Order: sequence, then structure tokens, then C-alpha cells
Amino acid sequence: MQVIQHPVEKLQNALVSSRRDLVECFQKYSHNERRLMEEGLHPDSPLFGPITIHSDSDWISSHPETPQDFQSFYSDPYRSTPIKSRNTIYIQTIGSFGESEGLTVQYVQWLCEYCQAFYLGLTVKLLDPVSVSDTHCAFRINSNTHNLQIHAGDLLNFLKKKKPKDAFCIVGITMIDLYPKDSWNFVFGQASLTEGMGVFSFARYDDNFYSTGYKGRLQKGKRLRQGDYTVFTGYYTPPISSTLLLRSCKTLTHEIGHIFGIKHCQWLQCVMQGSNHLEESDRRPPELCPICLRKLQSVLGFKIADRYKALLQWMEQGLASEQHTASSPSGNMVRPMQAFEDHRRWLQRCLSVLEGEIF
Ligand SMILES: [Zn+2]
Ligand SMILES: [Zn+2]
Repeated sequence: MQVIQHPVEKLQNALVSSRRDLVECFQKYSHNERRLMEEGLHPDSPLFGPITIHSDSDWISSHPETPQDFQSFYSDPYRSTPIKSRNTIYIQTIGSFGESEGLTVQYVQWLCEYCQAFYLGLTVKLLDPVSVSDTHCAFRINSNTHNLQIHAGDLLNFLKKKKPKDAFCIVGITMIDLYPKDSWNFVFGQASLTEGMGVFSFARYDDNFYSTGYKGRLQKGKRLRQGDYTVFTGYYTPPISSTLLLRSCKTLTHEIGHIFGIKHCQWLQCVMQGSNHLEESDRRPPELCPICLRKLQSVLGFKIADRYKALLQWMEQGLASEQHTASSPSGNMVRPMQAFEDHRRWLQRCLSVLEGEIF
């Protein structure tokens, strides 16, 4: 395992920048906000650790990119910024997300509320769910894994037509696997940053996806007819688990981060780190490192403590729902929260720094 330990000065420059106006801007953060962000500069910080590389198949080893510091993000003329008339993130579900319609609605609502806290200041809205047939997309059976896949580009074309006028972006999510073109095996997602849209699949976040017993495999020799979408009726979807929810929240916020113009993080452990495989995405934390946090804060203008409080509140509501049984009086499903426990404690520690407690 290789640890990418950047020198303190390099991280300091990536966070604060050398441009005078940006340094002055940094000084305008409250004392405790600066204390929290500068915490990431210390090599032995208990809050922000260095990136580790575990194999040649990890993202950084296989995709050399120029690291994006705060200054290069801030001065990028091509990145898109929400404006007052276009400040809503729309989420469009495609196909089913669970065995019952109620569960689909509930699951996507959790994701939507999580994004609302993560991107504090923007509005996140759900569009009415659509079935796979509504999108008129092409589909196929993957010849290796024998599961159903839908054409990501066709979904993007569909989303383009659906994008409301006040959208900062529109994001399609599905539990069905995606492929970008016939010669490719699969893709986790595809986006058009200039058009402010993306589509992402959570199918491969199923713990059993790569096992021979995966229930989404179709019988060998099964033939499909393009345009006949009945094969999607009752098609397998991953069980809603705490791990699936955590993975979905991380993917969604990572991908929307790209639409803001935030590139893959190479500074510290961060939800914006690139990922090539499931083990690597599981390794990245759900939160932003201080450098990416400053990028987002500069766009949305939130108080850092308010955003952490909103995320904590989302978690605490989930924990409260766990106290009820699956058929709670409100009719809501229990939100599975176990996988978020480390993150909840992390947010509390960050908040204690922001509230001036000695850390
Ligand atoms: Zn990415
Ligand atoms: Zn980062």
C-alpha cells in the first residue's frame, strides 16, 4: 500500500492559494472554520487522512490527471455555477428501486434529502418516476454477467428532453446496469457536464452482483426483442440495505460534484476521489476534504457548521426511524443507518471543532 502524503506547504497552497484575493477570501472564514479546514494540512490529523493506493488498478495509478487545487477550480471559466433562476437539482428515477412501489419512493426520498443536506442552499426535487419503457432506450443482456443492461446514452437523450428550465442539473438514477456502447462491458454512469446532466446505476453496488448466484442473471439463451420492455417487469433489484444506501449517497454526491466542476480529488481522502472498482469506492469517505469543501462552499455560500448539522439531522432522522418497526404508524419504511455510523461520529467531531471545542 502506498500513502500519498503531500507536504504541508503544498496542501496549504491547494487550500488557500497564492492569489491575494483568494487568500483574503480565505481569511474571511470564521476562526473555527479555518481551524477545521487547516486541520487537513496536518499529517497526523484524526479528521482528514491521506489518500492510499492499494493496487495498480486503483484510480490514481491508472488515470493520471492534473490535480485541481482551489485556485484552478475557482478560475475555471468552463465550470457551471447555479444561479437564482437555475438552482434546483432534479433527480429522475428510471425503473424500479425495490420490490414495492412504496419502497422505491421512500428510498429515493432518502437520497433526495441527503443531497439536499450535502448541497445545502440548493433545492433538490424528485421528478415523477418513469419506467424503462418510457425512455425508449435500447437494452441488451450482458454476455459475461447475463444481466439486463440499458443504453446510457439513450437515457441521457431522454433526460435532456425532461430537464426543467430552472434545473441546475438533472440526474437519472437506476438500479439496472448500464452500457455506453456495444463494445463496452458496462459503465457505472455517464454524464454531460456542459449540459448539466448525468445518469448513474447502483446495480453493481449489490453485494452479490459478481457472484454466480446473482439473481439478476437471466437464463442462458434468453432472447430479447428491442422495444419489448416486458422483460423489465418484476426484474430483480438489489435489496435495500444500509450499505446500498451509503454507496448510493456517495455516488450521487460525487457525480453531482463533477457537474459543479469539481474534479477528482488527489489531495486527501475525499468523496471526490476517483474510483475504478467497488472496493475503492467503499474506501473513500462520504465527505469532502477541506480543499473540495472550500470549492463547494465558494459556490453555495453556506456556513460550514450549518451543512454538517443538516447532514447530521438527516442521519438522526434515520436513526429515529430505526426505533420503529417496518410498519411504523406514519407508514414510512425504516431507514437502514448502520453503515453511516462512522460518518455520523466524524460529523460530530467536525462540529465540535466548529463550535470552538479544543480538539
Ligand atoms: Zn468521478
Ligand atoms: Zn477533496
